Amino acid sequence: MKVLTTVKALQHQLKQPDKSPVGLVPTMGALHEGHLSLMKNAAADCPVIVVSIYVNPTQFNDKDDLRNYPRNLEKDLGMLATVLREDDIVFTPDDKEIYPQKDTRVFDFGNLDKVMEALHRPGHFNGVAQVVSRLFEIVKPDMAYFGIKDFQQVAVVRELVRQSGSGIRIVPNPIVREADGLAMSSRNQLLDPARRKEAPVIYRTISAASRMLRKNDIPEIKDFVKKEIERSGNFVLEYFEIVDDIELIPLKRKTEMKDSSKYYGCIAVRAGRIRLIDNIRILLV
Ligand code: AMP
Repeated sequence: MKVLTTVKALQHQLKQPDKSPVGLVPTMGALHEGHLSLMKNAAADCPVIVVSIYVNPTQFNDKDDLRNYPRNLEKDLGMLATVLREDDIVFTPDDKEIYPQKDTRVFDFGNLDKVMEALHRPGHFNGVAQVVSRLFEIVKPDMAYFGIKDFQQVAVVRELVRQSGSGIRIVPNPIVREADGLAMSSRNQLLDPARRKEAPVIYRTISAASRMLRKNDIPEIKDFVKKEIERSGNFVLEYFEIVDDIELIPLKRKTEMKDSSKYYGCIAVRAGRIRLIDNIRILLV
């Protein structure tokens, strides 16, 4: 693999002929098996992939979160060396490469930027759109790989591609979990030991919620989720919503569900100063 830090070097390297499709895997580093699964899927489809490692300041609405975000490039490069091939590229730009001028663009994603994460992280998806569109412009990938772990992000990026007309294929990838069910996340390592031990309650609870629809309506399911998550006093529920995967409209009643749509139960939990998110497919019963 080649580790490149500038747009110029990256674009020069990508000029090599006969290397399409090009796959892009954007990350913020502090890599884990979830990230590696995206890279393995990308490498299976594409003769050359670009993995970016860049902690994008414009998507952090919380300055502490940005300051505390785990960074360990040496370790990341060691992990990447186990999955990337000779021609694959690790792109580790600094702020000046990504934002030579201050990015003042304001995107409009309609409802996608008005629910769930957007309510709790104002400006987050605008920042995501800024960095993803810059990476698309720099790398010009044919395909880009994202994790369903960040469910709302996938919907936003799809809309970004639709609006730009770039035709980049967005490939969603399943959530990789720890053995105890906790969705892998770079932020998991910031949890204190007691909360880390208890964190599997998140997946356990949304799994139970996904099975409740047969006998219960959505308000009861939401009550159940809140009670289970907050039972120990270590976690606070920010939201649990059941939404479709295109418009992300939160359902109030199960009678609103349509056979033609796919639904997901999406959760965000505050664990002290750390936020954890997860989601699960909800099947119509
Ligand atoms: P991040 O570095 O957190 O921005 O994540 C980079 C990419 O990896 C995003 O597309 C995430 O959705 C994806 N990702 C993060 N955690 C997981 C996971 N546990 N399973 C699958 N993909 C993940």
